[in-house]
Amino acid sequence: PRPIELLQAAQDATATSRANTPVKDAVVHWFKWDLRTRDNSALYLASQKAAEAKVPLIALYVVSPQDFEAHLTAPVRVDFMLRTLQVLKRDLAELAIPLWMETVEKRKDVPGRIVELMQEWGASHLFANMEYEVDELRREAKLVTLLSEKGMAMEVLHDTCIVPPGKLTTGAGKQYSVYSPWFRAWIKHVHENRFLLDLAGSPERNHKSARAKFGRLFECKVPEAPEGKRLSEQERKKFEALWPAGEHEAAKRLSRFCDEAVGKYGQNRNIPANSGTSNLSVHFASGTLSTRTAVRTARDRNNTKKLDGGNEGIQVWISEIAWRDFYKHVLVHWPYICMNKPFKPEYSNIEWSYDLEQFNAWTNGRTGFPIVDAAMRQLNHMGWMHNRCRMIVASFLSKDLLVDWRMGEKYFMEHLVDGDFASNNCGWGFAASVGVDPQPYFRIFNPLLQSEKFDPDGEYIRKWVPELKGVSGKAIHDPYGRGASAVASKAGYPRQIVEHKGARETTLAAYKRGIASG
Ligand code: FAD
Repeated sequence: PRPIELLQAAQDATATSRANTPVKDAVVHWFKWDLRTRDNSALYLASQKAAEAKVPLIALYVVSPQDFEAHLTAPVRVDFMLRTLQVLKRDLAELAIPLWMETVEKRKDVPGRIVELMQEWGASHLFANMEYEVDELRREAKLVTLLSEKGMAMEVLHDTCIVPPGKLTTGAGKQYSVYSPWFRAWIKHVHENRFLLDLAGSPERNHKSARAKFGRLFECKVPEAPEGKRLSEQERKKFEALWPAGEHEAAKRLSRFCDEAVGKYGQNRNIPANSGTSNLSVHFASGTLSTRTAVRTARDRNNTKKLDGGNEGIQVWISEIAWRDFYKHVLVHWPYICMNKPFKPEYSNIEWSYDLEQFNAWTNGRTGFPIVDAAMRQLNHMGWMHNRCRMIVASFLSKDLLVDWRMGEKYFMEHLVDGDFASNNCGWGFAASVGVDPQPYFRIFNPLLQSEKFDPDGEYIRKWVPELKGVSGKAIHDPYGRGASAVASKAGYPRQIVEHKGARETTLAAYKRGIASG
């Protein structure tokens, strides 16, 4: 069975006992990557349950450094999470809800520790939002059973997608593997089930006994970043300024984007020099903003109640958020993509290169292709890269250098502030043509044409590759090939590490050989 089916089975098997579990001394909400108080499905239900039974609500955050290792979580993402916990703790304290935060050494000990804490607090009910990665679903399935055996109840809710995975199937009852028909079905489903865009309420003020009974829990401090995930003080300050944490920042950013940019999103979204996109991915990935709130807010700016009418920019933006849902649906249905396998098995036999010199040139932004180098330097500096550039650099690594796309996927996870397994894995699968609904393998981006098209004035390149600041005109896209050799070489900018045309031929041949033997 798929991991989600295991969880479903555990929930079905315990349905009666869960419904009959009496509320004891407290109700607990377990925070994961849903670090907000507003429009949080499980938190809201937990607060309702506690209020009805007139007992305190306790918020819990338990993490193991092994979780970060297993998910290759970038230090910048860990830092964002820790800063968000600070904000969350303050917001919850204003509602008299304590936030208890703990680190446990081993990943496998998290469920056991939660049970212990529940018992220590005399809590009877645990609420959490669902995460769709394989290990997380399996863990939750075990926890539902474990708690039920001990006379406690756990509710795991769908929250992070607008349409829960598994809801949309083709006429033949199958999971869609192509985005366009899936998106039409997604729109139709949301229109027919308008409650999907109803926001969950905010938690009520906690029961008055919370401080008297659980006063100690209010004193809890936000944990330190584990070893290997720590930033230097200087980096911490930089990222704090670049990515202010917490749900209030997310709300401000959403409202600014909807006021100033969403209307022109369709025209501007592909131009990396332009701040035409929302920069909200870090908030969706950390759960400081729900996609429900985002889609609803954007839709309400439109003069129609539908998701596919009115302003074009708004429609396109909503369709981009839907990609996030699509990839999570894919992950839930085909969980083997979590196991480092290409979605399309016929692509398993491509002979990839593992040339570290070329890979390191790519990671360090020293390939001699200015658009690629600008993008990689943006990632290294900000922990974020523009979507168009993510496609360009992923295509370059897998199709110009023929380097195993999984090395790029891993590097992205280790550096992105918005690292999200499904979006990242499937984004790489798209660019390397091995994923779900991919770019056909013979479609190979020409980095120079991409550069001319999407950074016509070289503004983005000049920002991130200062060596080329003095290069004017079209030469910015290819300084050695277009008469700016002297400036580029004086500034120490590298020559191209590969010749695109030849690389293209090699790649086409390698894909053809791989597919034939696959
Ligand atoms: P906007 O353009 O404002 O879009 C709004 C939201 O829609 C985004 O925040 C994001 O949640 C969603 N979205 C937009 N495009 C996509 C897409 N192609 N796939 C899935 N969701 C999308 N996104 C991540 O959140 N985490 C990742 O780890 C990630 N890795 C990627 C790797 C590759 C190789 C590629 C090609 C794309 C990847 N993306 C990833 C998708 C996309 O690049 C980012 O979501 C986007 O750049 C974030 O910027 P934004 O918030 O300004 O996006």
